Amino acid sequence: MTRNLTCIVCPMGCSLTVTSEDNKTFTVTGNTCPRGEVYAKNECTNPQRTVTSTVRTKEGVLVAVKTDRAIAKDKVFECMERINAARPCLPIAVGDVIMKDIFGANIVATQNVK
Ligand code: SF4
Repeated sequence: MTRNLTCIVCPMGCSLTVTSEDNKTFTVTGNTCPRGEVYAKNECTNPQRTVTSTVRTKEGVLVAVKTDRAIAKDKVFECMERINAARPCLPIAVGDVIMKDIFGANIVATQNVK
């Protein structure tokens, strides 16, 4: 197996190539730092993403939110649906937990809204 990826860990966007004979051990080239190797191996075994979005409050105001850790990539759409269904109340401060344990992550506010 050979897979070409663009590293999304930092703005450099290095072009990575991952090769594996057995889908258990992976060789990564193209990375210019160790984080790229970790990213590429995770992407081939257990891809994850941090979700950033907005939630609409009961008062109708949009508030920026994100997951406090990465979740499985195949759960991102369902996570977005749950965020869209939530209606927290104001005031909201940066770091407030809006929703708990959504696929192992909390949804936290990233802005202050009174
Ligand atoms: S390999 Fe390192 S330098 Fe390159 S994009 Fe990934 S994190 Fe950035």
